[in-house]
Amino acid sequence: MLSDIWRQIVWTQKKIRGKKQYRILPTIPDYSLKKAMRHFYLQQWNYTRHWVDSAIKTAFSIIKSWKKNYMSGRRTRTQPVVKRFFARVKQTQLKLEGERLRISIKPRTFVYIDLSKRYFSLNGVLGEPVLTTTHIHLPMHYHRPKPKQEIKIGWDANKYSLDGFSPQLGWIRIDLKPLHTLHTTYDNKRRRINKLASKKKRTGKKLRNKYRHRERNRVTQLLHQITNEMVSIASKHGFEDLDKLRMTKKRRRRWNRELSHTDWRKIMSQVEYKSCANFVLPYYTSKKCSRCGWLHKDLKGTLFECGQCGLRIDRQLNAAINIYLRMEGLPHDKLWFEQQVTAVVGGFTQTGVEWKEIDELARSPHDTLKPKFAVATPFLHVKVRIAT
Ligand SMILES: [Zn+2]
Repeated sequence: MLSDIWRQIVWTQKKIRGKKQYRILPTIPDYSLKKAMRHFYLQQWNYTRHWVDSAIKTAFSIIKSWKKNYMSGRRTRTQPVVKRFFARVKQTQLKLEGERLRISIKPRTFVYIDLSKRYFSLNGVLGEPVLTTTHIHLPMHYHRPKPKQEIKIGWDANKYSLDGFSPQLGWIRIDLKPLHTLHTTYDNKRRRINKLASKKKRTGKKLRNKYRHRERNRVTQLLHQITNEMVSIASKHGFEDLDKLRMTKKRRRRWNRELSHTDWRKIMSQVEYKSCANFVLPYYTSKKCSRCGWLHKDLKGTLFECGQCGLRIDRQLNAAINIYLRMEGLPHDKLWFEQQVTAVVGGFTQTGVEWKEIDELARSPHDTLKPKFAVATPFLHVKVRIAT
């Protein structure tokens, strides 16, 4: 079928603008060819018709993906070849009968696959299985459970942690150290490979590619764990608009959110498609006092001290509260702060001078730097710690 389609491709020459060369562009035939192929292959076909349909569909999708790669210069003008036997089972050929899967082979002839010894749950939507000579690949789509309450969180990104604030949950800190460990591990690997590559060029190139992909996969997997954690606790997430953040970078004295841009971008896009994400303007989210709105012009260290109302607060928590306010379109309001923040969150004190007062929320400067909840990401251990 691949050769059938390949033969029908129409090639056209197109001049490259500003150059002498031409590009040869393929046009893939459409519906009429599909119809003709179907008619041809069904002539002496004793099996279920769906197998032919599925093969045509697969062949076209292989050619289409070849075209996409060819257009971007990653493939040559050679016909794609399928190296291994496989068949994709269409939904219509499929029926789940309790613990077994029925696949129709011929009219009124079925194959049954026993699923009773499976390790996964069947409470999802079954995709189209792929049969190979040795395996059956059975895709299952599961729906993510939604958080029961309508909870909104504003997130502030930092090098070693993601800090969130929500009036219901308080201060949520997600530990990002495992992410850094991962990057460091692969940086070290890369260094060793580069050393080797000075002597053995080909091996070096091969290894570099291998580990580059492995790093990317492992980072993506870890980010999925982190974002799964995030969407499981809240239904709406506020982030700083990264593109606008970049614009303000010049004006900032120091780039204090050192979390790698690509990682942060990935986190946001994953949360966006798994749940609901809002992007707010990033101006002064870490420099403004979340209680009264005073602008701190010379912010240093991890503690934010307000020169107007005396609030002492972890600077990352302060930024998260500001992002939350901006997401909700709320102004800086002391009364709101009293009701929504003081009631639920530890991690700050309102009058920085009087540390030993009995109704102070934090007793020591150390207490001001403790999140109420801490979510540790390595392999999904959720630690919940309530501030005393
Ligand atoms: Zn203040």
